[in-house]
Amino acid sequence: MHTSALVLFSGGQDSTTCLAHALSKYDRVETLAFDYGQRHKVELEARLNVLAAMQARFPTWAPKMGDDHLLDAGILGQISETSLTRDTAIAMESSGLPNTFVPGRNLLFLTLAAALAYRRGLQVIVTGVCETDFSGYPDCRDDTMKAMQVALSLGMDRKLLIETPLMWIDKVQTWQLAHDLGQKVDASGGGQALVDLIVEHSHTCYLGDRTQRHDWGYGCGQCPACQLRVVGYRRFRR
Ligand code: ZN
Repeated sequence: MHTSALVLFSGGQDSTTCLAHALSKYDRVETLAFDYGQRHKVELEARLNVLAAMQARFPTWAPKMGDDHLLDAGILGQISETSLTRDTAIAMESSGLPNTFVPGRNLLFLTLAAALAYRRGLQVIVTGVCETDFSGYPDCRDDTMKAMQVALSLGMDRKLLIETPLMWIDKVQTWQLAHDLGQKVDASGGGQALVDLIVEHSHTCYLGDRTQRHDWGYGCGQCPACQLRVVGYRRFRR
């Protein structure tokens, strides 16, 4: 019986929904983010606002929310900026992967998360990876997750579960899932409240733009991450 989880929580729409998922299921939930000099550093601030808002609005969840962790993964910046040739970067773009792609990033994140989970005695890692969205990151595939679960469980000699509640759903269903989870924990308006909280506080935009407020939240409205969020939100609202 699993009772505790570590959520990979970047402060975006997906990981906020994963956090709600974990809080609806487990007694103790801790959160983790990585600082690797990302452009959307504004995400790191947004995530603290999301955590505070969740605690304030959902008193059933608040006592389950444990420590929040921030790990330095700055080494990724060295790999993506200096070790790749210009040709390689262009080749990756032409293969359909966004130029934000950092090879194996998620493998490193999961390994660090597993080490932290081990130390903290947490049994489950929850991550918002998804095969349905546009990006097609190979380190977010379901098969990759299953292989990592086996490798990490063996390598740490402790059974570790990697849970991916968003793996097979699209952005519309992700909004719907957030709504359902909020409603389940608070039948008097919790669904709408969680959707509103995600709109207001979660951050998705690759450019880190929080100067423009739309009905779907803050962002430039143009980058791939914003576009996904806009389309999903519009269809969810229909
Ligand atoms: Zn954007």
